[in-house]
Amino acid sequence: MASDKNAASPFSIQREQLLGAFIHAGLLRTPAIIRAMREVARENFLPPSMRPHAWEDNALPVGHGATLSAPHMYAMMLEAAELKEGQRCLEIGTGSGYGAALMAKLVDKKGSVYSVELVEELADFAKRNLAENGFGNVRVICVDGKAGYPPFSPYARILITAECAAAVPAALFEQLAEGGFLLAPVREHAGGVAILKLYQKSAGRISLLSDLGPVLFVPLR
Ligand code: SAH
Repeated sequence: MASDKNAASPFSIQREQLLGAFIHAGLLRTPAIIRAMREVARENFLPPSMRPHAWEDNALPVGHGATLSAPHMYAMMLEAAELKEGQRCLEIGTGSGYGAALMAKLVDKKGSVYSVELVEELADFAKRNLAENGFGNVRVICVDGKAGYPPFSPYARILITAECAAAVPAALFEQLAEGGFLLAPVREHAGGVAILKLYQKSAGRISLLSDLGPVLFVPLR
């Protein structure tokens, strides 16, 4: 895909510094994830005014109330979710399309990524970003993600990139494949903080595998 072109981009020094720091800190460990973060040009998923900040470790606004999460957040989510080649995956909250592009790299051509976005302008922004960066195979659907996306369920992995108030919507657990992982920021108590949680379905039941710590996401509306 765009890997060679990307290696020569003016962002490459900043990118390698940041990813190198994540590797050094043990936040990035899996070669396929390191490769994906290297090859997906984060700068290309941002509005022009935000691009100079693409490889700073900050969340950045992309308009219409959406934020592209900080690079360390994607490193953390992808290391926890263990996406594998060939899997069918679902993302809730497409935003810029950057997260969906990383997922597409990891599941590769044999896999598929569906991403659901509530705001039409953002769905269009993401579709454009994905197409221009060679990710035409990611399907962006403009619907309410609380209902998931039943047509291609079950999904081996579901990543929710907006904060769930109280609990993960039941439809999303229903659409998770047997043995599959679901990752979501959940604010269990009003006024409390959201915790990134990793769940697994086994024998039809959902169990919490781990709490990955406090996180900040825009709300799932
Ligand atoms: N993963 C994105 C960032 C997500 S920001 C990226 O890589 O850029 C959270 C997104 O969730 C926003 O775009 C917001 O519009 C969307 N969102 C909020 N509530 C939603 C809902 N009910 N269904 C689908 N998308 C929703």
